Parts: sequence; C-alpha cells; structure tokens
Amino acid sequence: MADSRFEHSVIYLCSHSDQGAMGLVVNQVARHLSLEELLIQLDILNDDESAIRLPDSVRGMNVHKGGPVEVERGFVLHSDDFMLNQSTLTIDNGICLTATLEILRALAQGDGPEQAILALGYAGWAPGQLENEIQGLARDGGLYLPESWPQFDADTIASFAGKPYADVALEVIRPFVGGAIPETDLKAMIDEAYAGFRHPAVTPLVQTGANTFILELFHGPTLAFKDVAMQLLGRMMDYVLGRERTDIFVLYPDGRVSNVQRRQMTTPTEDNVHALALTGNFDDCQAIVKGMFNHFSFRDRVALSGVNSINWARILAQIVYYFVAGATLGAPHRKVAFTVPTGNFGDIFAGYAAVKMGLPVEKLIVATNVNDILARTLETGRYEKRVVTPTISPSMDIQVSSNFERLLAEVSGRDGSSVRRMMDQLAQSGSFSIEEGPLAEMRAHFGAGRCDEAQTAATIAGTWKEAGYLLDPHTAIGVHVARNHEDGSVPMVVLGTAHPAKFPDAVEKASGIRPELPDNLKDMMTAEERQQVLAAELDEVERFIETHARAATARV
Ligand SMILES: *Cc1c(COP(=O)(O)O)cnc(C)c1O
Repeated sequence: MADSRFEHSVIYLCSHSDQGAMGLVVNQVARHLSLEELLIQLDILNDDESAIRLPDSVRGMNVHKGGPVEVERGFVLHSDDFMLNQSTLTIDNGICLTATLEILRALAQGDGPEQAILALGYAGWAPGQLENEIQGLARDGGLYLPESWPQFDADTIASFAGKPYADVALEVIRPFVGGAIPETDLKAMIDEAYAGFRHPAVTPLVQTGANTFILELFHGPTLAFKDVAMQLLGRMMDYVLGRERTDIFVLYPDGRVSNVQRRQMTTPTEDNVHALALTGNFDDCQAIVKGMFNHFSFRDRVALSGVNSINWARILAQIVYYFVAGATLGAPHRKVAFTVPTGNFGDIFAGYAAVKMGLPVEKLIVATNVNDILARTLETGRYEKRVVTPTISPSMDIQVSSNFERLLAEVSGRDGSSVRRMMDQLAQSGSFSIEEGPLAEMRAHFGAGRCDEAQTAATIAGTWKEAGYLLDPHTAIGVHVARNHEDGSVPMVVLGTAHPAKFPDAVEKASGIRPELPDNLKDMMTAEERQQVLAAELDEVERFIETHARAATARV
C-alpha cells in the first residue's frame, strides 16, 4: 500500500499553525503488529474470522509507528474517496486524515478509502513548541519563552537533594515537554545524555571557601557547561528530526577560540559535521545565525534549526543544575546565591527560570569580563553596544547579549511591543534605555560585577595558592565577582563553566601550572583537523550550507 507521495518523507506534517503541529511518521513499520492483529485487539474482528473476513485490498497492510503521542490510537492518512462527517480532516490535494474506529471498521469491511496508510500514534507539538524546542528563533525575530512557568513546591524541591542528576532532570524538564515526547523516551534520552559525564554526580559542587562553592559544569565531552544542554538537545533533535537527515554546521570566529576549543569542532570524523571558521568575532557569528533564521526562504529550504545559546531547549536543560545545587545546599529551607560568568545571558537566565519555578535564590550575580554590557546595563539602566575586546575568557567576549531580550520580556510583563521597541532602538542606534519599573524588577533579582584581565589572572593564581584549586579564566571571573557580593550568611555558588584544560595557556601563564586534559580527550590533540574558513558574510555562509546540507535536497 505504499504511496509514492510519501515514499521519501519521514514525518508527514498534517497541520502546522499557531494552534501547534501534528504529523505522522510514515516510514517506520510496527514490525510486530499486523492490521489483522490490531483489528482483533480493537474488537473489530474476532480471532478466528480475521483471515476469512479481511478483504484483499487490506490483507497484509502494514501498521506504522506514527509517533510517540496517543500510541493506542489509529490514525489513517488516506485518499479523499472516503469521508466521515465530523471526523475526516482534509489536509491537502486529495489527502485526508481520519482517526476513528469507524474508518478501521470500513477498511475491515472493504468499504474504506482506496489508498490508506495506517499509523498508531502521532508526533505532536503544542503551539510554538516545535520551534521552541528545536529551531531556536521565532519568525518575528524574537525569542521563545514558555507560556507559563511550571511550579515546584517546597517538598518537591527538598526531594531533589541526593537524587541522581538524571532523575532531577526528568522532573524539571518533563512539564515543559508535555506530551510531545513520551516519558519513557525522554527518560532514556536524559539517562544517556548524562551517563557520558566523567563525574557520577554530573555537576558536582566543590567547596573552595567557608561558604563558597564551585558548581563544576565541565565534566562533559567538550569540557564546558554547554555540554549539559547539548548532550540532551542533540538526542532530542535526533529523536524529533531523525539522525540520517541532520547536518551540523558549527560556526566560530577564526583564530578567536583556543586550540582545544577549535580541535573539539574540527576533529569529529562524521561527514555530516562541518566546522566553519568565520573571519570575524563571536558577535558576527551570532548575527549570521540570526540573519539565516530571518531569511525565511533559506531557513525553509535547508530546514534550519539552531542550537546556539538562544535555543530555548538549551536554557531548559540548564535550569536543572540550579535546582540540583540549591537542594544540595539546603533549599528550599535555605536560600542560595549564584554567580554566573556570562556574556549571552543564557546560563544565568536559566537561573532566573529556576527562581520563577519556585527555587528560593538570594541573588543571581552576573559576572562579566571587560566586555561588560550586562554589568553596565544593570548599573545604569542603559543597554549600550560597544566594540568587543578580545580577552583570555573568549566565550564571554560579547557585546550583544541575545538572551537578555528574554529577561526584558519577563520584566516588562511579557509586553511584546515594548520589547520590540527596545530591540528596534538597539538596531537603529546601538542602545536603548530600560524603564524604571522593569529595571527595578531586574535589580531585585540580579546583581553584577566585572573582572578585568589582571584580576582574572590574579584570581587563578590566588585560588590555586589558597585552595589548591585550578580555575579556568571564565570561572575565575565568577570567583572574583562573587567575592564582592558574598555576605557570609548565604552559600555562594559560582558556576564553573569550563575545565582549566580547555584554556591551558592562559591558566599556565597565570598560575605556573599547566592543566592536563582528562584522559579520554588526549587523542583529540593529535587528530586530523577539518575546517572551512569563510568570510563572515551571510551570503557566503548560506551558500556553503546550501551546497553541503543533505536536508536541502532530501526534503519532501
Ligand atoms: C559560553 C560560555 C560562557 C557564557 O555563557 P552564556 O551563554 O553567555 O551565559 C561562559 N563560560 C564558558 C566557558 C562558556 O563556554
């Protein structure tokens, strides 16, 4: 019964609108279930009559696995010669969808549609959720936020203490994912994502002072906190989009990342992974990503998804470790403060989300290097772009902080037009001012501080000498800024965003100690590199992606 119209498709998208999206996977057969067996299970056929009663047209018809939602229910994609009032949905040119027992009865009696594909379950996404979780950027140029924040009560938060990381992750992430991914599959993805971390606690807390802790987020494969989200997001994308159809393009500023960072992007051997070194800075890369998302015809042609730090699903995965660290240190009975080395406001926005979900937090402290747009904004109420200065903490060399827009939306009471006005002003004049009310709301939750190059180096050296703990330059910025905000009564957690061995030259220069790579990463330093150097121009990057993406040609 294969229909050539569907032969190459993976998911047949039946509807996709602001009401949400639903689709059927039409190329995965449920091997252990025949139509006969299904009809018997549904009491449409008796056990012994099946062979006799099923008409030729449907005998031996495959049952497909349509997707993870409502797997008990049959969905029939069929030709338009069959229609049931009320329950048949016309999709387009001659294709309909019916999901009632009646159509199965009709098929069993030979009165069904001439052409039909039967699937159990469907793939579904709540309004905007598909884009939220997978694509990263909204079509209006804005960023996605969940409609409301799920709430965790005190008992639930207390119960996180001592639980395995993956179990807490499942509880925190589940309410956002809703029915789009069944719990058993979500749990399997989470378990797998965190099983590969080098520390059994996944994100352990290490005490470095009387009431100061480092939350080590760097035990994943690339030695930085981004692994916590990417290990899970990669699996979610494979799950939703299908691994065979995915091409990965990594954009980074040529010559502005460390050797270890570059090698992590240039040494994967999979032929669907492309490392693109752009002759520009990090903000140029970010602007090109945004430009591609806003170029709708390109975006649709290559089925673009983004996993940079503006992807909502990344932030979602990062909320988990705030709850884990908070509960470990006594939340909800005791407040905790966090200092977060940040540039794009992604990691710290996850902390704000945790607060919105019920975690009692004394303060979230923004720690920046000399590229201090965030610290300046909180101090002055004026968000003002300046030129980027390269530093020894390159992952924070940013002067356009994409996720800050999410905070603006939150503190403006989700007033989309006021956020748009500020963003328009930023685009036109390079700056905007935040009104009194929203600014006061920001300051109630956030503090800020900056750390220059000499202070960064001194903090690395001092912490090594005093605590025997080797910091990477990004985490050192957090430790420096945290010191100015500690009051001794509240535990201060500094997010350890990178392993010192990711930035060995800067760490050695500051402390005299050359940090060693974890054993499982040593091979990377001698492996062959593959990268493509491109001008930091939208056209050039789009052209490269279009000529190298399989999705661009294999799309239905
Ligand atoms: C990406 C990164 C940061 C900054 O993260 P934000 O998304 O800007 O909050 C800080 N430190 C390291 C090591 C990073 O890789």
